[in-house]
Amino acid sequence: MTASPTVPASAAPAARDLTPLRDLCGGAVHLPGDPGYDDARMPWNVAVDQRPAAVAYPASAAEVAEVVRAAGALGLRVAAQGTGHNAGPLGALDDVVLVRTSAMTGVTVDPERKVARAEAGVLWEDVVTAVAEHGLTALHGSSPDVGVVGYSLGGGIGWYARKLGLQANNVTAFEVVTPAGDVVRADAATNTDLFWALRGGGGNFGVVTALEFRVFDFDTTYAGWLVFDGSRAAEVLRTWGAWAGDAPDEVTTSWRVLNVPPIEEMPPPFRGRTIVVIDGAVMGTDEEAEKALAPLRALGPEMDTFERQPTAALIRLHMDPEGPTPAVSDSLVLDSLPDAAIDALVGATGPGSGSTLILAELRQLGGALGRAHEGAGALPALPGQFLFLAVGIAATPEMAAKSQADATRAAEAVAPWQNRTYYLNLAEHTVDAAKGYDEESYARLQALRARLDPTGLMVANHPIPAPQVELPQQR
Ligand SMILES: Cc1cc2nc3c(=O)[nH]c(=O)nc-3n(C[C@H](O)[C@H](O)[C@H](O)COP(=O)(O)OP(=O)(O)OC[C@H]3O[C@@H](n4cnc5c(N)ncnc54)[C@H](O)[C@@H]3O)c2cc1C
Repeated sequence: MTASPTVPASAAPAARDLTPLRDLCGGAVHLPGDPGYDDARMPWNVAVDQRPAAVAYPASAAEVAEVVRAAGALGLRVAAQGTGHNAGPLGALDDVVLVRTSAMTGVTVDPERKVARAEAGVLWEDVVTAVAEHGLTALHGSSPDVGVVGYSLGGGIGWYARKLGLQANNVTAFEVVTPAGDVVRADAATNTDLFWALRGGGGNFGVVTALEFRVFDFDTTYAGWLVFDGSRAAEVLRTWGAWAGDAPDEVTTSWRVLNVPPIEEMPPPFRGRTIVVIDGAVMGTDEEAEKALAPLRALGPEMDTFERQPTAALIRLHMDPEGPTPAVSDSLVLDSLPDAAIDALVGATGPGSGSTLILAELRQLGGALGRAHEGAGALPALPGQFLFLAVGIAATPEMAAKSQADATRAAEAVAPWQNRTYYLNLAEHTVDAAKGYDEESYARLQALRARLDPTGLMVANHPIPAPQVELPQQR
């Protein structure tokens, strides 16, 4: 279904004099051949071998603007990168200055307005910690070290998503360096087209240097894991799948098959086993949460950790890998999950399937995610019932090939129930970005790209070209 996201080593960048870049960012610019270049170009997903023409580490919006202007003057393009969680689809970067934002780490919280501001390099864990001090909760995802900006530009689905919607539609302002190198603000009153485009339209419209977003006035929730033996994968999925569609909006959960590695870091009861996990959060009172979860608890899990807990703890609820990780994946959005889909999915990923995937997952969609958010940006909703994701570890080229084949096989198994949409944040290889949006929104995004980035300076992981530009390798 997909090509491996591993980007082949690109050809050496065309010979051009890049010395004008060297003095930018206080010298934090790395060119091929420099001693620091290999470390500087390394994304979070270390299976991706990105080799840009230069890597810049600006520490301020003014430094970002200098880099953007200098790149344009040299005939280079610009790609912004926070962490490199979604480096896979970026493609060859031979003529690209990679603007890595990890030096821009400021977070502030306005508890009166219930708005947080994060600079471009901020990771979700930093926001969660900062807002917790004020008894507030942010719409983070499952990983502590995903970047707030990349996540928010692409949508952002977390543990409160079926009640509060996508993080993108809770962003209230962006600070942006435009492709022309101007520093601007985009919000509901200023640069409103840009504000609309950035709420779902990804890195196509400029380098975001900071954003402001709503945070919410609660600091505990009812959350945890239900764990079952892998042999019960189909049975548990049948119950969860039927339950998920009818669950109240306060409930956001996922179902996963986990192949737990036989290594010491893993909890002894699960080490080396295939287990099935339902995890998630239920907003509301304990009584409401217990009532909502009762049909799942009736399945008799071997472990049940659901209880009231501080929302700050949910940043690690899913136990996502942290730090540089070599990963391959595939993902789809599903409209339904009939018995045939369950059999196909468990047949491709469950015990006895031969799958080497570390996980195969369905996230529960619907609720507020399925309804157009009031005053939304380019991604007003995410149609579909389930978000499928398969992830394998790619520590060696052989593992990468096998894991990618298994992820593709799993995606193909459920593809008959796929809808036309991709959730681009979890598309870690090149897909047709048009399928990330409704037709009207995509046409408006394309028109805005032509107006806001007429020279096509920006290089995004999921490119939205101006009308009539053809892109290679789409599926
Ligand atoms: C382990 C893991 C867990 C995840 N969990 C979730 C989850 O729970 N919910 C969810 O919705 N998604 C999740 N994702 C997907 C995640 O939201 C995307 O990978 C997102 O793109 C990551 O943003 P980043 O900045 O960390 O990554 P990057 O790869 O750095 O950025 C991705 C893209 O965002 C754009 N971008 C980044 N920074 C800027 C900037 N400053 N200005 C302009 N454009 C920019 C660029 O186009 C860039 O290519 C997860 C991914 C992984 C690998």
